[in-house]
This record gives sequence, structure tokens and C-alpha cells, in this order.
Amino acid sequence: MPELPEVETVRISLEPLILGARILEIRELTAGVLYNWTGHPEAASGSTVTGLRRRGKYLLLDLGPDLLLIAHLRMTGQFKYKDQPPAMVKHDHIVISLEKPESGRIWLVFHDTRRFGRIWLLRPDQASQIAGLASLGPEPLDPELDSETLRLRLARHSRTNLKAALLSQTVVAGLGNIYVDETLFLSGINPQRLSGSLSSQEAENLLACMQKILRAAVNARGTSVKDYVDALNVRGSFQYQLQVYGRTGQPCTQCGTPLAKTRLAGRTTVFCPNCQPV
Ligand SMILES: [Zn+2]
Repeated sequence: MPELPEVETVRISLEPLILGARILEIRELTAGVLYNWTGHPEAASGSTVTGLRRRGKYLLLDLGPDLLLIAHLRMTGQFKYKDQPPAMVKHDHIVISLEKPESGRIWLVFHDTRRFGRIWLLRPDQASQIAGLASLGPEPLDPELDSETLRLRLARHSRTNLKAALLSQTVVAGLGNIYVDETLFLSGINPQRLSGSLSSQEAENLLACMQKILRAAVNARGTSVKDYVDALNVRGSFQYQLQVYGRTGQPCTQCGTPLAKTRLAGRTTVFCPNCQPV
């Protein structure tokens, strides 16, 4: 599932391709993927892509000041950029055709094999009605975020474990199973620890490790363990730097102890019993 580094990579890969392009048409091939809350089927036609932003795992396209296209890729959603008329394949759900002043017609195809991905077309003031977006915690790479804020936000989930709290999106935005496990390993903190049990020093270390992992993953253009690719079909390479995710039973890179696995918040969780003691 695309997490913060993968969505950020999609944003970075799309920005030079579609910024300034004018939307000609948004065509739905599959019903139920596009939520158009504007009340007008053609609302986006003629509007220009004026900005590409990311919030958590959401990708936001500004279509001028009065219109917004928001996408959540969920498990397997992908945007495929095409500079030739695209031949539709199975699991292509939405086709956005655009025109760029210098390069002519281009297309953005939303492809999603599992079909959990969602796209909203709405006015900016309607964005707060997307529950998952409205409840997001702060961006972990925001330089304004300090470790005391992180510690206090974790303490609000005092009776749950750290793994679940960090996956919740309401403590910090954008982390999923891969980057929570990697962050906790680098921090030396056991994922089963209670969310409210961190000392100020541990919270400081946790935030520093989280930012280090996420920056490295963005620099590596994300993790491609399954089907994740960016808008130009390029795979990421952070999978070669993973220390714990997907490595159950293999020796810890720091101490050689076989990595253990448990299930927390319904997700497989891998950790080193020696480096991350309870
Ligand atoms: Zn270890």
C-alpha cells in the first residue's frame, strides 16, 4: 500500500508533467471510483492544474482556486501518465484527458486492481467532509513538528500500542505498515509498548528516526515490494534498505538475532526482540 514516501514520489513525478495543463474531460470507465461532489458532471472541464500537494497518503490537485481533485490510492491505485491516446486495459477506472500549451494532449489514467482507491472532485470547502483527510495528524516531515507534540498526541491513545497509534493516521499522517516497523526498529522501541508510555527522550528519538526513514525513502523514490510504481511506471528502491519489514526470521542487521513477528492492529509486525526489548 502506498504510504507517505510513495505518494510523495507520485506527486513529484507528476508535477512537471501536468502542472499548468488544462483538463479537457474526466471520463469514468467504472462507476463508484470517482466521487463528484460538485453537482456538475463537467465541473472540471476547462480548469487548469495549478498545484500538486500531498497530505498524509492523499494526493491533492488544485484546479484553480475553486476546485480540488483528491486521490487516495489505498492498496493498489496508480496514476499512469500517457502522452499518446491510452489503450484501455482491465482495471483502468478513470481517464483524465488534459492539454498542455507546449506539449499538446496528455492523459492520466487511474488504474487500480483491488479497486479500493478513491478520487473526489469537490470544492476546497468540502474537503473537510472526507473523514480520513479531516482527522489527519501533523505531517511527520513538517519542520514545525516537535517531539513533545508527538509524545502528547501518542499519549491520547494511551491504552493502545505504538504500532496501532502510529498506523491510525491521527497521531501523525502518512505512515503505514512498512514505515512504522522500520521507524520503531531504528528507534529501538518495541511496537507493543503502550502509546502513552514514551519518555520525552524516547519521543525525541522516535521522531528523529521517523524523519530519517521517511527522508531516505522519499530519496529512494519509495518502496516497491509488490506493485507500487510512480506515474511513469518507475519502481522505487527503498526495498533494498529495509531492515525489518518482510524479514521475519532473518538475522537482525544490528545484532544477528532472528527477527520476530507478531500481529498488532491486524497487521503483521516485524521487530528484533533484542534491539527492541519490551
Ligand atoms: Zn537486533
